[in-house]
Amino acid sequence: MSDATQIIAIDGPAGAGKSSVARAVAQRLGYLFLDTGAMYRAATWRAMHHGIDLDDGEALAVGTRAMELILRETDHGQEVIVDGTDVTRAIRTPEVTRLIYKLDQNSAVRRHLVALQRRMGERQPTVAEGRDIGTVVFPRARCKIFLVASLDARIERRARQLAGKGVEVDRAALRKEIHDRDEQSRNRADSPLRQADDAVLLDTSDMTYEAVVEEVVRMASEVL
Ligand code: C5P
Repeated sequence: MSDATQIIAIDGPAGAGKSSVARAVAQRLGYLFLDTGAMYRAATWRAMHHGIDLDDGEALAVGTRAMELILRETDHGQEVIVDGTDVTRAIRTPEVTRLIYKLDQNSAVRRHLVALQRRMGERQPTVAEGRDIGTVVFPRARCKIFLVASLDARIERRARQLAGKGVEVDRAALRKEIHDRDEQSRNRADSPLRQADDAVLLDTSDMTYEAVVEEVVRMASEVL
């Protein structure tokens, strides 16, 4: 287990702003940014790319263990490399997003990715974000934050993000996607999304992104 004093664990549902906040906090503090969602996305992309039967749990576990995964921070954001291929964009497609549930319920897949996450967090001070960071990956982290926002606020943010990328936005479809992912994360048997007993709840519905970053840095500085 890593030195828990050097880990900021940020969990919460889809669209609560975890990634952008965690990245900004990591930058401010000079910490590693660990985007665990990108790891589940990468494993899903790889399984699809190799035509693995997504209902074959054993094949998914073998494939995930064989994956050579590199997460690299660059000036223009994080790069995700799988077996030498840059999949930074490919792992964000709606099709990958829709199929992640096939892997994220698989205990062998989770075990492998959690071991990788712990290894990365052990090397240096880290801001890790995901669904099970405070409960499973780094239960001894001293700074745990559970980031939430209303469904409407999350839809609005995601819509703005997509519009900024020139993607046409269908709010009803977004609502369904975010709602379904919440349900799947909360209801799975292995490592369901839940607030750790010692995590602090931060509702960002009415906060600007900058204010959330400030607040997380302040909370971290109190305990680290
Ligand atoms: O955070 P992001 O939207 O990239 O995560 C993609 C998916 O990966 C989540 O919807 C969830 O199914 C899964 N995930 C997980 N455990 C984590 C991080 C992500 O199961 N720690």
